[in-house]
Amino acid sequence: MAQGRSIIPITSATKQLVPKPSLIGEPGSDGPFISDQMQRPLRDLRISVTDRCNLRCTYCMPREVFDQKYAFLPRAELISFEEIERLAGLFIQLGVQKIRLTGGEPLLRRGIEKLIEKLARLHDPSGRPIEIALTTNAVFLSGKARSLKDAGLSRITVSLDGLTQSTFRRMSDSDVPVRTVLDGIEAAQRIGFSPLKVNMVLKRGVNDHEIIPMAEHFRNSGIILRFIEYMDVGTSNGWRMDEVVTAKEIFERIHQHYPLQAVEPGYPGEVAERWRYADGSGEIGLIASVTRAFCGECSRARLSTDGKIYTCLFATAIGADLRDPMRRGGSDLELTRLIADCWSQRSERYSLLRNSVAGASGEKIEMSYIGG
Ligand code: SAM
Repeated sequence: MAQGRSIIPITSATKQLVPKPSLIGEPGSDGPFISDQMQRPLRDLRISVTDRCNLRCTYCMPREVFDQKYAFLPRAELISFEEIERLAGLFIQLGVQKIRLTGGEPLLRRGIEKLIEKLARLHDPSGRPIEIALTTNAVFLSGKARSLKDAGLSRITVSLDGLTQSTFRRMSDSDVPVRTVLDGIEAAQRIGFSPLKVNMVLKRGVNDHEIIPMAEHFRNSGIILRFIEYMDVGTSNGWRMDEVVTAKEIFERIHQHYPLQAVEPGYPGEVAERWRYADGSGEIGLIASVTRAFCGECSRARLSTDGKIYTCLFATAIGADLRDPMRRGGSDLELTRLIADCWSQRSERYSLLRNSVAGASGEKIEMSYIGG
């Protein structure tokens, strides 16, 4: 927050900003929140700090589309760290409790530690610190884990889709040694990021033969391996349902090798179904984003690299532009109003409607830009 600017207290001014005062609730210890058309609170904010990435995962940024000719955002279009800090402060006043930095590859954004330092100083209206998390492909993590921790980063999730070089290359379409990523994971763990999570997206016939080796590798490590169903985000990955390895199938394959027991969700709306190995060797997660949609509990807003709000990962349209009003000198009150209006009008539940005529039509926005 820039010097001299005050944040609007949610209990007074903010209540006048939302279209219907009833949209703000104060459910006891969980703090105030604003809710959408389906009574879903705004709790999480994902910020895409860059639309660029050093990998070309076939399911996310296929090289044929994201090639030399692809028009990534010019630098002046990106929202600055000060702008992100200011907007994050406003989102927090409306109920956000967790911020995740993502992209593109967030470690490509120069000086990311400076942004983390700023965000780590933010508190919710009751004075609790905000959890700051980061999702990364870990290619630069070995060298940065220490400075990220020192800057105040709370948690890291690493994306890794295979252990062998050939599988890693097929999924990421890059020559980065998979060892570099594993070194990054080990460095983050040594430095004390805990619990560390590793996300594996599965594509049938490409990396599903590595489900058991990955489970074996991360058992007894304290790291939580989470398997993600390949989703139809964006328009460039040529998604087909027959390439999705379902959470049910993943469960059955692992359970046969290593019996699993259910674990209660850690908090309402947790997207991963949690399972522990019966022999006590650790925990895994299953993210059934396609076959068991969790729209009903989705409390996530996304802020794009150029400062636009999107209220669904599968969005086909902008929720609201915050950058231009902010650069034209908009006040905190005006910007808060834009965010509140946008969230309170939100009715998306794309994954639930995926196969019905009411599902999204039109070009979906790419994940690298709105933040995975
Ligand atoms: N570059 C960072 C990384 O690799 O973690 C952050 C951005 S990436 C878009 C965030 C996450 O989205 C990664 O775990 C990635 O595997 C996941 N992802 C991207 N496209 C996906 C898709 N079509 N289906 C499922 N997960 C996807």
